Amino acid sequence: MIVYNLACDQNHHFEGWFASGDEFDKQLANRQISCPNCGSTKITKQLSAPYVNKGTAEKNQPATKETETALTGLNPRHLQKQFIEYIMQNTEDVGTKFPDEARKIYYGESDNRSIRGEASGAAIKELQEEGIEVYGLPVDPSTPDKLN
Ligand SMILES: [Zn+2]
Repeated sequence: MIVYNLACDQNHHFEGWFASGDEFDKQLANRQISCPNCGSTKITKQLSAPYVNKGTAEKNQPATKETETALTGLNPRHLQKQFIEYIMQNTEDVGTKFPDEARKIYYGESDNRSIRGEASGAAIKELQEEGIEVYGLPVDPSTPDKLN
């Protein structure tokens, strides 16, 4: 798994998690990556986090200091595990009902809680356009064992 610092054309900065650099390029080309703040799909990649930075390709880009400091020394495998565990422990799996359930929570028709589940890129974008905070994950969070 790889973390990229991303920014949209409105200059919102956010993190994206991807299975690989190729996967990022593919999702970007298919406009599957959208800004969690405004839903824009005009996304650009910022300087990579240091633990995936090979130290050559990104030399020409300006450094983002606080991001480098924040992530220095973290083992990416460990981080990935923690990230998945955090999601598993702090969300309820609602499966394919995710878009419906996310809306119900947002509009107060269901208990306010964090959920995870399955949704298409288009469904996620729709939710985001309604103002609902939704984050697309590059992997199925219900099957963390497949990640390795
Ligand atoms: Zn944005």
